[in-house]
Amino acid sequence: MIAEVIIDSKAKKLNRKFDYRIPENLEDIIEVGSRVLVPFANFKTLEQGYVIKIKENTEFQVKDIAGLDENLSNEKIELARWMARKYFCNVSECIKLMLTPGTRSKDTAKRMQDKKMNFVYLNENITEDKLEMLRGEKQKKALQFIEKNEGLTIPEIIEFAGVSRETINSLTKKGLIKIEAQKVERNPLALKKENKNKKLQLTEEQQIAYDKIEKSIQNKEFEEFLIYGVTGSGKTEIYMQLIEKVLELNESAILLVPEISLTPQMLDRFIGRFGKEKLAVLHSKLSIGERHDEWIKIKEGNAKIIIGARSAIFAPAQNLGIIIIDEEHDNSYKSESSPRYNAKELAEKICKGKNIPLVLGSATPDIKTFYRTEQNEIELLKLTKRANNSSLPSVEVVDLKKELATGNKSMLSFSLYEAMKQNLKEKKQTILFLNRRGYSTFIMCRECGYTMKCPNCNISLTYHSFQNKLKCHYCGHEEKTVKICPSCGSDKIRYFGTGTQKLEEEIKKIFPEASTIRMDVDTVTKKNSHEEILNKFKNENIDILIGTQMVVKGHHFPKVTLVGVIAADSSLNIDDFRANERTFQILTQVAGRAGRENLPGKVIIQTYNPESFPIEFSKEQNYDLFYKTEIELRKQLKYPPFCDIIVIGFSGESQKEISEASNFTYNMLKNVLEKYGINTFMPMPAPIDKIKNKYRWRIIAKGNVTEEVTIIINKCMQKLYESGIGKKTNIAVDVNPNNMV
Ligand code: ADP
Ligand code: ZN
Ligand code: ZN
Repeated sequence: MIAEVIIDSKAKKLNRKFDYRIPENLEDIIEVGSRVLVPFANFKTLEQGYVIKIKENTEFQVKDIAGLDENLSNEKIELARWMARKYFCNVSECIKLMLTPGTRSKDTAKRMQDKKMNFVYLNENITEDKLEMLRGEKQKKALQFIEKNEGLTIPEIIEFAGVSRETINSLTKKGLIKIEAQKVERNPLALKKENKNKKLQLTEEQQIAYDKIEKSIQNKEFEEFLIYGVTGSGKTEIYMQLIEKVLELNESAILLVPEISLTPQMLDRFIGRFGKEKLAVLHSKLSIGERHDEWIKIKEGNAKIIIGARSAIFAPAQNLGIIIIDEEHDNSYKSESSPRYNAKELAEKICKGKNIPLVLGSATPDIKTFYRTEQNEIELLKLTKRANNSSLPSVEVVDLKKELATGNKSMLSFSLYEAMKQNLKEKKQTILFLNRRGYSTFIMCRECGYTMKCPNCNISLTYHSFQNKLKCHYCGHEEKTVKICPSCGSDKIRYFGTGTQKLEEEIKKIFPEASTIRMDVDTVTKKNSHEEILNKFKNENIDILIGTQMVVKGHHFPKVTLVGVIAADSSLNIDDFRANERTFQILTQVAGRAGRENLPGKVIIQTYNPESFPIEFSKEQNYDLFYKTEIELRKQLKYPPFCDIIVIGFSGESQKEISEASNFTYNMLKNVLEKYGINTFMPMPAPIDKIKNKYRWRIIAKGNVTEEVTIIINKCMQKLYESGIGKKTNIAVDVNPNNMV
């Protein structure tokens, strides 16, 4: 027998099938979906590959498959092939997402199952002069990796950071890292307590929603639902009862949540209801070993409830009965690197294939999802009231232009200041939200107008006060602060703009007696510290939590009665057709953090554009009105959901090559796509036209991306590859990307 094998490689050249003979001793074991080891070309080591078809004959002279690694179901292989077409990537990249994590080499797999292992940690007392001793890029790279991923094993570090054993040894010798033997209890829920929480009597609205979905579970039919309910309306309670139903039928459930909402509080509710045993958690903060163990628990059918971020959609759930996607509007469900998949689209595909319901939930649904409910593609289930009868917070919008006119130059409007003072007096908690991290967001010479930009990226540097450095948020470049203009020598350098660091400093000045805690990418780095910050805020009764986007989602703090939005305009001004949608979503979500229990909540939104409709409607938290206005605009301007936006990005070091490749692509696509009603625009530099020393250009096309269109684009990209044009240019096709810059 002959197997068609796809080699596990990102290389475009290898994105095709190769035939291999199946040796007799493996004939009963190898099937479609098997992961195998094969000799390839004149490579010294065996390559990994996936069997996608088995047949009797081949016209080629072929080598034998050398060994077997892991079996994937036929279904999964089909899904991977579908994904590769739809998201313009290699099949092997998709298959990789579906395999047990941490088993890429047999050796690692074995070690990972040992119960006592060596883990690598950063040494606590690293001094500057020790860092000076670092030689070469390899050691630096290894140290950076270990810093971000403490608690990995040596083989894991070798495999995932791509460094050698010697490099790790020399870091140990220099006293930068330490190796500790530990007994492994690689269960992310190991330290959790089970605080029983009982099933609640559903409200009338909850019951209606539950009944409809339950019917679809019982009848084994695909149907897609949107539970649209204000924050606190009891969506999670419905999810839990649906999952209970599914478990009764001896089926399993996948619940996707945005990465950031996988908070301890959220998990506690599920643990309290179902116990730890049946639960598996999958998210990016788990070590590879932990992910491996969770995956096995799922695969063996022991974990029946799978809660995870985007990639948990690929978990090997046994006998799947439902998929639920909470906060379905969240953009983390779409991957922005290859494979550029959308977990919502995959969920739909999977549920259709298995005849099971798909449930989406949100207080501020994706415009496209809501539009689809109007088209009767998704059944709308509304929850209009908060389940525990707490009232929605009152929202006040403050016009910062007026505030300035009265001479108030502080970051806090008079209203917000007063409300915070009152809150402190009453010992209630406050959250302040500002969507920019760092201290000052741009640095300019007032004499000649020179702005400090990253040398690698065409973007302003941000001042970070803690390390007293200028940083690039795109590539991580750092440099010393400046007092003299590098261009004209003037000393009129000024730091403009406000980030969370500066806000925290100001708040400490204004309210010296208040305790504060800050949550943004800069304070959340090591494992679990996101969780630590939230726990600290809650348990130690910290007065004020200051943070970026991270504070917005899903958390439940009973004592938070005041939420202040420092500058609502930052997301309005982004160059993206979703600017209004993002603004409305963020404001509504952040407002949902206030007054979640018996204490009434208040929200103060500061803005320079009080009259803009996303801000206006978020005052009443009126999604319906917002939706009506926005969908009209989208229709007039022909933006999604009335069309798709295709972005073909070209990036690389040679502008000449980019220009050749993009023009070649443009000329190929323009006329063909026109026949399908798709309008293709000339190649143009991207809004941020240089990142990490790579120039960035793109072609944008607007129209409906059907199966046929996908096939055409795939073919064109293949032709481009075969032409050899743009060999060193990175080319990526993305449909409806999150980020248009
Ligand atoms: P959402 O997921 O929509 O934000 P939750 O499910 O978290 O809402 O519910 C918000 C609060 O209301 C929680 O404290 C929850 O325990 C409570 N709750 C939910 N459903 C009910 C119910 N049927 N009866 C009483 N309280 C409920
Ligand atoms: Zn100057
Ligand atoms: Zn940069």
